[in-house]
Amino acid sequence: MNADQLPLEGMPRRLYSCTPSRLNTWLDCRRRYRFTYLDRPQPPKGPAWAHNSVGASVHNALAGWWREPYERRTPLTAAILLTNGWIKEGFRDEEQSARWLGRARDLVSGYVSTLDPSDDPVGVERTVATRTKVLALSGRIDRLDRRGDELVVVDYKTGRRPLTQDDARSSLALAVYAIAASRMMRTPCRTVELHHLPTGEIVEWRHTDESLERHLGRAEEMAAEASAADERYREAVAAPPSSRSRAPRGAPQGPAVRVPPEVEELFTPSPGPICSWCDFRRHCPEGLAAGPDRNPWDGLAD
Ligand code: SF4
Repeated sequence: MNADQLPLEGMPRRLYSCTPSRLNTWLDCRRRYRFTYLDRPQPPKGPAWAHNSVGASVHNALAGWWREPYERRTPLTAAILLTNGWIKEGFRDEEQSARWLGRARDLVSGYVSTLDPSDDPVGVERTVATRTKVLALSGRIDRLDRRGDELVVVDYKTGRRPLTQDDARSSLALAVYAIAASRMMRTPCRTVELHHLPTGEIVEWRHTDESLERHLGRAEEMAAEASAADERYREAVAAPPSSRSRAPRGAPQGPAVRVPPEVEELFTPSPGPICSWCDFRRHCPEGLAAGPDRNPWDGLAD
């Protein structure tokens, strides 16, 4: 950065606007971050994943259930909402989709039968936001409950992997949501919960002020790195076309938008097992070499 680009004393810095998902992508793989948030046009993604269809259908049905009038908040209503909003993308065939529809129907109706329909949450699919000196964070909470004098962040999980307390403790998203909800509603919010629908298990973590601050500090560190890389990227793509080139369409040759090597290095790939599930794998030679192809329905339990 040259002297002209340094922020003048007293002038507000531009905040880095992001979601926890954006920060986690930066942490997981910087090339995927670039594909997801910077390259425009965005490289085409692979086909939809069936396990994501199940997750989205379940989330939508549970959100819709709370929007129903009290007398209709029954297990049957949850099953009907799930059926009406069923997303069929990614399944091997109609038979597999129908089988999973049945399972998901049982999941949501079984789960809501454990809830008190009169205990309205403070928010459902509630967007919350907060800011610090360096970043503006926002995101959507599956459900925000009030328990006594405090708020509790509830996150639904539909994956096959059993959850541990460490998942709740280490989740940047849940910690940020707790901070944002607390600030917006001027009510303490330290407890975060993962509700694992396939097992009915609830995994809880109660944060302290210190642990929440640590998460926020980590978010700020990532935001500072990502923001600096974004800036370098934007300068590079705004440069005259003679100083960069565009890769031919089609074959997997790495990112299609070409930037100078020193900028490319800011977005190095992180190949690993996750690559088999990456939406941009076909544009990433390192990711293709890292693991086998997966069918869109391979994330389902069977
Ligand atoms: S395939 Fe792997 S290395 Fe390539 S962008 Fe995706 S996650 Fe990153």
